[in-house]
Amino acid sequence: MTITRHGSIARRLAAAIPALLLAVPATLPAADAPAKPLRVVSIDMEGGGGTLFVTPQGRSVLLDAGWPAGIRGTPLAQSSANRILAATKALGVSKIDYLIITHYHLDHVGGIQDLLAAMPVGEIIDHGPNRELAPAGTMPGPTATASLYARYEALLDGRKHRSVKAGDRITVGPLTLDIVSADRGLVPAALKGAGGPTPGCEAPRLPDIGNGGEENPRSIGIVASYGKARIVSLADLTADVEIGLVCPVNRLGLADLLVVSHHGSQLSTTPPLLAALQPRVALMANGATKGGDARVFQTVAAAPSHPVVWQLHYATKSPEVNRPAEFIANPDGVEDGGFALDASVWPDRRMTVTNLRTGYSEEYPAPR
Ligand SMILES: [Zn+2]
Repeated sequence: MTITRHGSIARRLAAAIPALLLAVPATLPAADAPAKPLRVVSIDMEGGGGTLFVTPQGRSVLLDAGWPAGIRGTPLAQSSANRILAATKALGVSKIDYLIITHYHLDHVGGIQDLLAAMPVGEIIDHGPNRELAPAGTMPGPTATASLYARYEALLDGRKHRSVKAGDRITVGPLTLDIVSADRGLVPAALKGAGGPTPGCEAPRLPDIGNGGEENPRSIGIVASYGKARIVSLADLTADVEIGLVCPVNRLGLADLLVVSHHGSQLSTTPPLLAALQPRVALMANGATKGGDARVFQTVAAAPSHPVVWQLHYATKSPEVNRPAEFIANPDGVEDGGFALDASVWPDRRMTVTNLRTGYSEEYPAPR
């Protein structure tokens, strides 16, 4: 793979503009204008969910709202909601058109109240009722999933909302989101262009170490299509369910960009998933002390497609597997960095990824 390295976005743009002016005649028909990239921003939620998609037309989709302010040492100024606000502002967006709550855990739905107070949100999308209930005869605590869901339901009052199931599709201008998992349901047939056998499906399954709660395996997973490019994000979908998406038949197809499931937790990400998707780039939305497990780093590193891995945080639990600092948005092992990873994805599958702490960027050309 050819990789070109750039120290700063500004320098790249400055270098590119004269060439673009020369290359584009004034009479060029609009249909031939150079396609603009989809932006995919992995926001630092300190181990929570928050992936932002923005189309060239300024339409936006947010996967999850992160934590509520006050959790994991974040005051309101550094809350998940404020980081979402900053990420959208940086891309010139003032509204979230679609907010997808993948499941009802604190690190995904917890920040929704702060977010709704901070900026306009169009439609809210979820997988339907919460399935993670308090044990019979007990009262759920304030951050128990059942309590979070009750507060979430109350927030939906008067708002545009729908529940989706696997097989549904959301179209946002040139961006298409295929729902491939929801509430334990899986997309019933292979997506267009997918459907081949996945190598390694006969290998022994990962040891059963639980699923971290009933809601994780019910996560909404998506395959996003932008031209020929594919971006896969399965939220916190656990290994026992994700395997059904790719074994024995790969229902998802190839991924150019993979948002590594479950913040890089070892409860997710099986070798067959990597063998099926063949990602070229993987973004790991881990926290300093959450996710980023050694087993997942090793699984991704061993993938036949040799994806380039970028991390939101230095993984303090597994120092031996961390990538070099330029690939880590927040390398200090503390929970106050707040720097994001910003991917630009072109319709022809070209990609760039930029570490917003340093401006360090790499370009991954479109496959031939
Ligand atoms: Zn999570």
